[in-house]
Amino acid sequence: MEIIAVPAFSDNYIWLVHDEASGETAVVDPGDAAPALAEAERRGWAIGQVWNTHWHPDHTGGNLAIKDASGSTISGPESGRIPGRDVDLAEGCEVRLGKHVGRVIEVPGHTLDHVALIFEEDGVAFVGDTLFAMGCGRLFEGTPEQMYASLQRLAALPGDTKLYCAHEYTLANARFAAHAEPGNAATAARLEEVQRQREAGEITLPTSVAQERETNPFVRASNWQEFARLRSDKDSFR
Ligand SMILES: [Zn+2]
Repeated sequence: MEIIAVPAFSDNYIWLVHDEASGETAVVDPGDAAPALAEAERRGWAIGQVWNTHWHPDHTGGNLAIKDASGSTISGPESGRIPGRDVDLAEGCEVRLGKHVGRVIEVPGHTLDHVALIFEEDGVAFVGDTLFAMGCGRLFEGTPEQMYASLQRLAALPGDTKLYCAHEYTLANARFAAHAEPGNAATAARLEEVQRQREAGEITLPTSVAQERETNPFVRASNWQEFARLRSDKDSFR
């Protein structure tokens, strides 16, 4: 399974997922159709599926144009707000790309309809705006209890699972993480590494479950109350 980042807007990543054996291609969270279609065409890949993690327009805005251009099937959570949705993604559902199987888990918090796609055999998870490298999504619809439980589910995946998040927020998150846990040497080292990567214009994703367990203060919070305090501190952190 080959996974390519397609930058969109100021800090979104659309993920193109290609299976060489079957020739199938899916696109995860296409907020904008043009860059995803252009990258697929450049590689000679025909997009056949759209997978949405949640309804926000910067993740679904390109759905209809991609469907028009490619005839893709659109899979996403049932919130009534996903343009062109054909297939419902709820807890226990599966998405397939060739022989690769992704299990759907519900991870409410950022929105109430948010799902993550877990490809266990590939060690890959698409986590949308639930977990970011060293951070997490804002609570627009869900409660701190819900978001904390969602993050703990992702953090319980095998340590070498690669997490594909939907935004390049790592540097700002790393600064907050270093502020929240000044004694965490792994966090300090990662902040330096992320600064170097961003100065070089490099992408900081995917991250891994093991890295997040070591350096993500929201994952490391010991209960939802601590999580809620951190989330509210981060909202006002500059
Ligand atoms: Zn979002």
